Amino acid sequence: MATEERECEVVVVGAGFSGLAAARHLARAGVDVVVLEARHRVGGRSFTDTSEAGFRIDRGGQWIGPTQDHLASLAAELGVKTFPTYIAGHGVELRDGVRTPYAGLIPTSDPHGAADGIACMLDLDMASFDVPLEAPWTAPGAAGLDAQTLAGYLDANLESAAARSILDVAIKAIFGAEPGELSLLYTLFYLRAGGGITNLARTTGGAQERRFDGGSQQLALGMAAEMGPRVILGAPVTSIAHGAAHVTVAARLVAADADPADPQAAHGALEVTARRAIIAMSPALTARLSYAPPLPVARDQLNVGMPMGAVTKIHALYDRPFWRDEGLNGQIVSNGGAMSSTFDDSPEDGSHGAIVGFIAGDDCRRMESAGPEGRRQAVLSDLERAFGPKALRPIEVVEQHWPAEPFTLGGPVALSAPGALSGFGTALRQPVGPLHWAGTETATEWCGYLDGALSSGLRAAAEVMHELEGVTGGVD
Ligand SMILES: Cc1cc2nc3c(=O)[nH]c(=O)nc-3n(C[C@H](O)[C@H](O)[C@H](O)COP(=O)(O)OP(=O)(O)OC[C@H]3O[C@@H](n4cnc5c(N)ncnc54)[C@H](O)[C@@H]3O)c2cc1C
Repeated sequence: MATEERECEVVVVGAGFSGLAAARHLARAGVDVVVLEARHRVGGRSFTDTSEAGFRIDRGGQWIGPTQDHLASLAAELGVKTFPTYIAGHGVELRDGVRTPYAGLIPTSDPHGAADGIACMLDLDMASFDVPLEAPWTAPGAAGLDAQTLAGYLDANLESAAARSILDVAIKAIFGAEPGELSLLYTLFYLRAGGGITNLARTTGGAQERRFDGGSQQLALGMAAEMGPRVILGAPVTSIAHGAAHVTVAARLVAADADPADPQAAHGALEVTARRAIIAMSPALTARLSYAPPLPVARDQLNVGMPMGAVTKIHALYDRPFWRDEGLNGQIVSNGGAMSSTFDDSPEDGSHGAIVGFIAGDDCRRMESAGPEGRRQAVLSDLERAFGPKALRPIEVVEQHWPAEPFTLGGPVALSAPGALSGFGTALRQPVGPLHWAGTETATEWCGYLDGALSSGLRAAAEVMHELEGVTGGVD
């Protein structure tokens, strides 16, 4: 198999939002940059697709909210419009088999539970103010906070089962995880990075406020278009050899009709030698590459201590948004079913109906063996309980089971297990020789989100520019 060799100043691994933002910034500054992307598409966790029935759906990241300024300015630059998430009317709470419509953010069928839950959310937000975004491991009592799980905190601070149910749903929606999987320190950092738990959970005024007309992946496609042939698709990186001043990144080259995840599928190989590399992906994915010499122990352990959340994103598509006739806004908050939360995902003009739902955490793992058909049946059963028998007659159900994606491994974001952030967090953005780290997990604002991915790419690009200027006296 022929190996093509190539040289450039900076090689970027991964063409998600972070890698593309980094590469575009460098290219605009005149740096010779090459991007290697494993898949046959750009966008990573942002993936807009057309369903068999012809409906546009976002299989991954889709919402934009206030203060996500990097994302908003990129959309404005590329001329991608946004529109508000449909929220008119009531949501439906399905708790312990009981169906109760509710208004606003928090189900209030159990008023005491709702008050208990709101008080706990405020306490978490207050505590998060003590966690420095640049260095959460330096927070007062960081080691103690990092030794606890969020579940331990909730057990100790919530009085009612209803409140626990509300918090569990919110945490599943935000992290794709159960509270027992999350370090308390990481949770507080993450909440602060997104402006607080209410901000992360809500639609209007929060992270789910607006959607991209035509889907979020347009932004990745727009960035990649500017880069032209410098973005190489179907190039899964396998190994990285690094010295003091140079790095050689080896990738397989996979034809457009072959599966990049199949190690036998290569029709060739590519070695890119550069002065710096930006690895633009989650810690768990960086752990799948082989490094010579091996990574420092702290970085290696961080990669293991930050697994991805578990989420399956499901769209149920209908000829019309029939739930709106009953004054319902498509939102479900549920325990005991397959999906813990849903939203109305119909197009702005309501020309067809779409509900998007999330099977997350334990439910995602439990339902993995059920396969697509088992998940479809479980999801339709949830929707019938919330919206009635019309829900059983979708035009189509489309799912994206993110844990089965070898170049993502789960989602929406990495978790941090107890001990990881305080023990090895300093390695998160610490360059290793010529290797620099991007990816939304390295962001200090809107960590875990598209906006954080963009800012992480820009930060890594600035680091590299600084280094190159130091080495050469200028990169122009
Ligand atoms: C179901 C779901 C819903 C979400 N909802 C939202 C939302 O509504 N709003 C929001 O802001 N965010 C949301 N997110 C999160 C958002 O999508 C991510 O924060 C963002 O896309 C991360 O970008 P990234 O560049 O950091 O990483 P990624 O998008 O993961 O990019 C990493 C890239 O590296 C590539 N890669 C992996 N391995 C290799 C290899 N060996 N060689 C070469 N390339 C490789 C991957 O293919 C990928 O393109 C959601 C995510 C998911 C999964």
